[in-house]
Amino acid sequence: MIRHLSWCSNEDSAGAAARAAGDRVVIVGGGIAGALLAKTLQNHADVVLIDPKEYFEIPWANLRAKVDPAAVERTVIPHADYLTHAKVVTAAATGVDDSVVLTSVGRAVAYDFLVIATGRTCTRPQRRADRLEMFQQDKERIAAAQSVLIVGGGPIGVELAAEIVMEYGAESKRITLVHGGDRLLKVMGSRASAKALEWLRSKNVTVLLDQTVDIGGVVDADRREFTTSGGETIVADCHFVCTGRPVASGWLRDTFLGEHVDADGRLAVDEHLRVGRTRNVFAIGDITDVPEAKQGYLAQRHAMVVARNLRLLLKGGEGEHKRLHRYKPSKAAIHVTLGRRDAVSELPFMTLIGHIPGAIKPRDLFISRTRRMMGLRWN
Ligand SMILES: Cc1cc2nc3c(=O)[nH]c(=O)nc-3n(C[C@H](O)[C@H](O)[C@H](O)COP(=O)(O)OP(=O)(O)OC[C@H]3O[C@@H](n4cnc5c(N)ncnc54)[C@H](O)[C@@H]3O)c2cc1C
Repeated sequence: MIRHLSWCSNEDSAGAAARAAGDRVVIVGGGIAGALLAKTLQNHADVVLIDPKEYFEIPWANLRAKVDPAAVERTVIPHADYLTHAKVVTAAATGVDDSVVLTSVGRAVAYDFLVIATGRTCTRPQRRADRLEMFQQDKERIAAAQSVLIVGGGPIGVELAAEIVMEYGAESKRITLVHGGDRLLKVMGSRASAKALEWLRSKNVTVLLDQTVDIGGVVDADRREFTTSGGETIVADCHFVCTGRPVASGWLRDTFLGEHVDADGRLAVDEHLRVGRTRNVFAIGDITDVPEAKQGYLAQRHAMVVARNLRLLLKGGEGEHKRLHRYKPSKAAIHVTLGRRDAVSELPFMTLIGHIPGAIKPRDLFISRTRRMMGLRWN
C-alpha cells in the first residue's frame, strides 16, 4: 500500500527527525529509469517518487497503442501497482536546493539523496484513464482517415508509419512521411536508414526527405492541407508530429544544479552517475550526458548502478564514496520495429532488417520483460 506523503519543509520537526536518519531518497521522474530505481530501492530507504502522472508508461509500446490500444493497456501501469513501500507525489518538480525539491503543487519535499530522472519533456495526462482514452481517440482518427501525414523520420515517425501500414494494409491509406534530414533514423547508421526507407517505400509509404512542414504552434486536429518547405502540398485527414521531445531539464536551470546542465540540456554526471561535484545528487536515463545512444534499456542499467551506489551510501555513509560502482557507457543495440513482424536492428557488428531482427524486438515489444523487471505479472 502506498503511504500517504507527509509533506515536510526544512522547518518541519517530523521532517527533521526523518532527516537525522539520513535515508530519504527523492527520485524526480517516473519514467523507465526513475520507476525502476524507486521499485528497487523502496525496501532499503525512505523513497519518494515525484512524477506528474499517476502511472508509469512503457514508451516503446505507445505507437502500437495508436492502432491497437487494447493490446497495450498493460503498458500503462499505475505507480501504486509496483511501489508498495514508497510514497508518490503526483506533481512536477519546479525547483530544487541542496535539501528540498519544490513541486508544482506548492510544497517542498526534503531529501538526503536526490536522483534526477526527468528524461524528456512530457505532456501526458495525469490520469491513466485519460491516457488510455487518448490512445483510443488516436486509433479512431487513424481508422477513419484515408490519408495520414507523419512529420519526422526518426524512430517514432518510422515506427508509427510502419504500425499504420501493417495494421491497415499498404493500399487502404495514403501515408506520407516528411523528414527534415537527408536520411531516416539518424540515430542509426546509414545502412539502417537505407533499409528503413526501402521497406517503407515498398509498402507504398511516400517518404519526402530534406523537407519540413510547419504545423504551427497550435494543434488543429481539423487541418487538412499542409505545404512542405519544398513547396509540395499534402492533403491528409489526420497528422502526427513525431519530431522527438527535448530533454526535461528546464526546471533545473536556475538552481544550484544549473551549472551542470550543458548546452543540449543534459546533466553532466561522473562515472558513478553523480551530478557534477555533488556527493548526494545522481542523475539517470535520457537526461544525462553519458556518451551513448539514449535507450531505455541503458536507462535501466543506470538505475541499477545508482541503486547499488545508494545502498552502499545508505548503509556505510560518506566513507563508501570510495567504493562506488562505476557506469561504463555502452555501444547501444538499437531496434526499430516495422509493424508486428519486421524490424531494423543495428547491432555492434551488423545491421539487419526483416523477420530475424523482428524476433529480437519481439511481437510484444519487450512488454512482458519490462513488466517482470518491475516485479509485475508479465500480463
Ligand atoms: C517510440 C519509441 C521507441 C523506443 N524504443 C526503444 C526500445 O526499443 N528500446 C529502448 O531501450 N529504448 C527505446 N526508446 C527510448 C526510451 O524510451 C528512452 O530512452 C527512455 O524512455 C528514457 O527513460 P527516462 O526514464 O530517462 O526518461 P522518460 O521515459 O522520458 O521519463 C521521464 C519521466 O520524468 C517525468 N518528468 C518530466 N519532467 C518532470 C518534472 N519536472 N518533475 C517530475 N517528473 C518529470 C515524466 O513524466 C516521465 O515520467 C524508445 C523511445 C520511443 C519514443
